[in-house]
Amino acid sequence: MRHTKRFSSLAHARTKSACAAWWVLVVALWAPFCTAAGQDAAPRNVILMISDGCGFNHILATDYYQDGEAGQQRYEQTFTALAMSTYPAGRSYEPEKVHADFKACMQGATDSAAAATAMATGVKTNKGALGVDVDNNPVPNVSEAAEARGKATGVITTVPLSHATPAGFVAHIQSRGSYEEIALQMLRESAADVVMGAGHPLFDNDGKPVETEGGEPVDAGRYRYVGGVETWDALSKGEPMADADGDGSPDAWTLVQTRAELQALAQAPPKRVVALLPAHSTAHADRAAIDADVKDDAPYEAPRAASVPTLAEMAQGALAVLGQDPDGFFLMIEGGAVDWTSHGNQLGRMIEEQIDFHQAIDAVIDWVEAHGGWDENLVIVTADHECGYLCGPGSETACTPVKGRGKGVMPEAEWHSRGHTNQLVPFYVRGAGSARFTEKATRTDPVHGAYLDNTDLAKALFEFFKSEP
Ligand SMILES: [Zn+2]
Repeated sequence: MRHTKRFSSLAHARTKSACAAWWVLVVALWAPFCTAAGQDAAPRNVILMISDGCGFNHILATDYYQDGEAGQQRYEQTFTALAMSTYPAGRSYEPEKVHADFKACMQGATDSAAAATAMATGVKTNKGALGVDVDNNPVPNVSEAAEARGKATGVITTVPLSHATPAGFVAHIQSRGSYEEIALQMLRESAADVVMGAGHPLFDNDGKPVETEGGEPVDAGRYRYVGGVETWDALSKGEPMADADGDGSPDAWTLVQTRAELQALAQAPPKRVVALLPAHSTAHADRAAIDADVKDDAPYEAPRAASVPTLAEMAQGALAVLGQDPDGFFLMIEGGAVDWTSHGNQLGRMIEEQIDFHQAIDAVIDWVEAHGGWDENLVIVTADHECGYLCGPGSETACTPVKGRGKGVMPEAEWHSRGHTNQLVPFYVRGAGSARFTEKATRTDPVHGAYLDNTDLAKALFEFFKSEP
């Protein structure tokens, strides 16, 4: 995609060159130029992977269950490891306080909307806000900057496609709860080339068709995640929506609704795809547990719906579609339900969701190694905030590391919150331009070492999209 119709300042920027000129002004504020090769060169393709709600102990718990020991995942062994602060506008991260007082990190935490806005625009905003500053003024995002370079763009998630994290990379709106309007901005107004997620109006949380009357689900509110009934009908009919390829005329989405169709994308990718997983609130995390009272079980103990794709399959499909653009692409991949299961303090389901995310990272690494390697591609693996205050056993005055009990065995862990915390989150990076993030990690935490801020992530991406030849 190449333009957005959202703002008057952008509305006239219909051509690639006009849009690029507009971006020169915006990005010049931040942009030192970078022409060296390898780790210091601007990447052709950028893949940003966000595990929503994932702190250091979430990875540790998953590692112990998945591998029997920590640090065995490919990204852990081959990426540069940093940390990242996540606080919203008007707050701060103070390592001394957070590490001295067990409860300090429960204050001043962000939400996924403000965090996504920071990572997508470089601007700290209020909780709940998407793509707008604290005064509700729209601010440009990295997807739009990539589009101005002629790149393809996409967002994919395991929660509804119009949820806060994907929305933060596309939409501009004061309230994250305005799902219908967010979906309209994403599907009818943005130049995005790939949008994938849950939120299907006609399926339930177990991936089963919902009760219908005359083909319509009983509850009309079930259409909110896809922009309402009219937009759903228009998508189903393949009606052209916004201009994705910059030729001045609107482009239709190819609507994908089954796992087989999604898997087929890798072999025969269309130009523009919206994939709506056949499930409502999440791909898999909200399916019924074996014990309905506990709502938790060991990973995969309650079978997953075979009709619903994995995040790795979604990533493979999205990469095939976006990889067709000769100018490269920007893709945001979210493991959205690590957060939801952490709110629920569901350790087994959380680990299952993080395994799904790990498998998606492996799929991305495989794709990169088959498509230009690490001199052309940049992969970032991070989180938007920690959720659940997950700690090791006996954590009372300090949050200790989760303890492993062997592969395939649930680790020893304790939840200390049902909300978000203001802890640092993991940040892994590899590939072209990765040195830029190390340069920006100028602050030091006594526990996690060098860290950058979530706004630095957007600033680096703006620099790349500006400086690339
Ligand atoms: Zn959350």
